[in-house]
Amino acid sequence: MKPPYSEQLNRCECCPRHCGVDRLAGKTGFCNVSGDILLAHAGLHFGEEPPISGTRGSGTIFFAGCNLCCAFCQNWQISQEFDFSNTRKLSPAELADEMLRLQFEGAHNINFVSPSHMIFQMADAIQTARQKGLTVPVVYNSNGYDSVEALRLIRGLVDIYLPDIKYMDNALGQRFSAVRDYADVIPGVLREMLDQGGLLELDDAGIARRGLLVRHLVLPGQIENSKACLKFLAELNPDITVSIMSQYSPQYKACDIPELNRTLTGEEYDEITDYALELGLENAFIQTPESQQTYLPDFDKTLPFKQI
Ligand code: SF4
Ligand code: SF4
Repeated sequence: MKPPYSEQLNRCECCPRHCGVDRLAGKTGFCNVSGDILLAHAGLHFGEEPPISGTRGSGTIFFAGCNLCCAFCQNWQISQEFDFSNTRKLSPAELADEMLRLQFEGAHNINFVSPSHMIFQMADAIQTARQKGLTVPVVYNSNGYDSVEALRLIRGLVDIYLPDIKYMDNALGQRFSAVRDYADVIPGVLREMLDQGGLLELDDAGIARRGLLVRHLVLPGQIENSKACLKFLAELNPDITVSIMSQYSPQYKACDIPELNRTLTGEEYDEITDYALELGLENAFIQTPESQQTYLPDFDKTLPFKQI
């Protein structure tokens, strides 16, 4: 077994922000999380794409903190404004036990949500969980602002890559997510993920086994950005599986940004999905107009995804 991946946190370069802080000594960088594993929520989730949620649910593990700061974050309670009242501090062994619990409850996979800043703690936990009997695929469900070097270090531990492609425009990334080089970083990240996992593979029941599924959330009024994202994917590989998400609704700070303070129109979404087909992206998941509400979690509740 390789030495603990988490040793890398003594000069953190987990993500392209390269903060260089010693998280093992309790220091924090942009993501605001030290070397501890801060678990915000672990449970079965049925709102992912059908090959991920399947019939029995995806075993989601939400970490606190994030290496982006999106004005429209629907998980802001745990990504930006978390505290010790809504998180639990775990060791890698305890995180491995959570993974095994979710597998026991029937999860089709273990789905790490926003793991970019926890990539090495996650890797240590995966190794332990595999030794203790974890057999379902591991999903790396990230915002795409990942370190290619870190991804190479954990090669072989992740079965399914589920990244976003948010922007192909650095100015938009800066304005909406406080990141200056997202459009420069994402091409290399997606190439690495495709190289590691290949195209999405399903089993006979239509459940994802391995490979790459890329998500794109269409933002209101940002049609050219969405088209540029899809064009990049089509050039990378037109057989790539893409989930084109219509669920945007103004959350968190987006309510104070006039251009983000509305939902997407049907015409905007149709223009993007038509464009994807024009590009030859035929392996696309497309949502219905009523998707806005069904995906919104509330992390102040014990069951954040239960619609009451
Ligand atoms: S939307 Fe995702 S990437 Fe952006 S701040 Fe929230 S959790 Fe992080
Ligand atoms: S993971 Fe956090 S501390 Fe490390 S480089 Fe990224 S933002 Fe900085």
